[in-house]
Amino acid sequence: MNRNSGDGRSLSNCVPLTAKDLYEIGEIPPLGHVPKHMYAWVIRRERHGDPESAMQVEVADTPGIGPSDVLVMIMAVGVNYNGIWAALGQPVSPFDMHRQSQHIAGSDAAGIIWALGDQVKKWKVGDEVVIHCHQDDGDDVECNGGDPMFSPSQKIWGYETPDGSFAQFARVQSRQLLHRPTHLSWEESACYTLTLGTAYRMLFGHPPHVIRPGQNVLVWGAAGGLGSMAVQLITEAGANAIGVVSNEAKRDYVMSLGAKGVINRKHFDCWGQLPDIDETAKYSDYMKKVRRFGRAIWETTGKSNDVDIVLEHPGEVTFPVSCFIVKRGGMVVFCAGTSGYNLTLDARFVWMRQKRVQGSHFANFHQVWEANRLVSERRIDPCLSETFTWAEIPHAHRKMWRNQHLPGNMAALVQANSAQPMN
Ligand code: NDP
Repeated sequence: MNRNSGDGRSLSNCVPLTAKDLYEIGEIPPLGHVPKHMYAWVIRRERHGDPESAMQVEVADTPGIGPSDVLVMIMAVGVNYNGIWAALGQPVSPFDMHRQSQHIAGSDAAGIIWALGDQVKKWKVGDEVVIHCHQDDGDDVECNGGDPMFSPSQKIWGYETPDGSFAQFARVQSRQLLHRPTHLSWEESACYTLTLGTAYRMLFGHPPHVIRPGQNVLVWGAAGGLGSMAVQLITEAGANAIGVVSNEAKRDYVMSLGAKGVINRKHFDCWGQLPDIDETAKYSDYMKKVRRFGRAIWETTGKSNDVDIVLEHPGEVTFPVSCFIVKRGGMVVFCAGTSGYNLTLDARFVWMRQKRVQGSHFANFHQVWEANRLVSERRIDPCLSETFTWAEIPHAHRKMWRNQHLPGNMAALVQANSAQPMN
């Protein structure tokens, strides 16, 4: 067994997977030696459904690399909703996007560069990296002076591509790589990039609605992955985060991230699609409940002081409320519809009060680089909540799908053999 990196650096924490026979991978190859095959958690179209049945361990070919690609040995992975949507095949099946017969999910990871294409100059074999999930072809107008997130070639790695991180090795574009913050463990490094990059673009990527000191931002699911990153970014920018949670146990957690206030959504019942406006009694009862929720926000922001921005992702059940409670000229920025995609809003409030409804999706390279810098400078904590083993990757997704996971971001170990103590 070779556990040396070739440059004398110990790779003692790169031992093979330990979770029983099925997951026993064998010897770690010498740094740079690429085995022909690897283990991976594979989804197939006929298995779409619950992540615990959709994802199965299979032996897959280790991906080959092109001139601008990098092969990374995956030390740890982040667990996020992309794996759930890929397992379920909703809102679309990944197989309808990439047309391959197998799908390896996983859009977050940290690892060690194992091989390089010959056009990759900035990185070298042995570098420790975090991988973000934005891919593009790099040769159209949006990628050259525009915003690569608007490029027609833009894809989310591990969701729209078949070759994500839930494997021993992954092929990525070299521009997906970020320096690994050296103060973090492998699992901490792997857990935050998707949610942090997305929250960063939502809050800073849609001028002129960019958060400023003293502004107020409502954050749905403030103890979740996106939410925990957003609360910290808002606080770091000198603005006030008002977090929404569903149980009291999460209140202190969100306050500890810097929030100015926390609201328990279980104390309100204005959730769901907007009632039919022609059903006057039903509609006015609903509006009374929404205004009560709005007053709960004023307890933090001050009377009649509506929030400047709403960071929205639950979708169908909260969207009409978000569009009502945001201030005149403010922005509801959304990146998901976890509870459903049939978003409703009362258009009168949106046009008369000139509100902005803005879709947002992950982040461009510049945004995710800036977000990662904040982690490296210890301004943002990755909020690792729980670390799972390789064998538990599907189970971790099931927990998240059922909203039974702990606050923050989750990770799972792949080649890293044991969870490291938190800093
Ligand atoms: P998490 O599960 O970590 O957090 C989501 C939070 O939303 C939960 O903690 C929960 O908090 C809250 N929530 C759940 N159900 C409801 C509901 N019915 N009403 C209000 N709040 C609810 O997930 P993430 O933050 O990682 O992701 C959230 C969504 O964002 C997912 O759909 C994901 O796919 C999407 N996403 C999109 C990205 C993009 O680039 N477009 C990138 C990253 C994520 P509580 O119960 O305490 O209220």
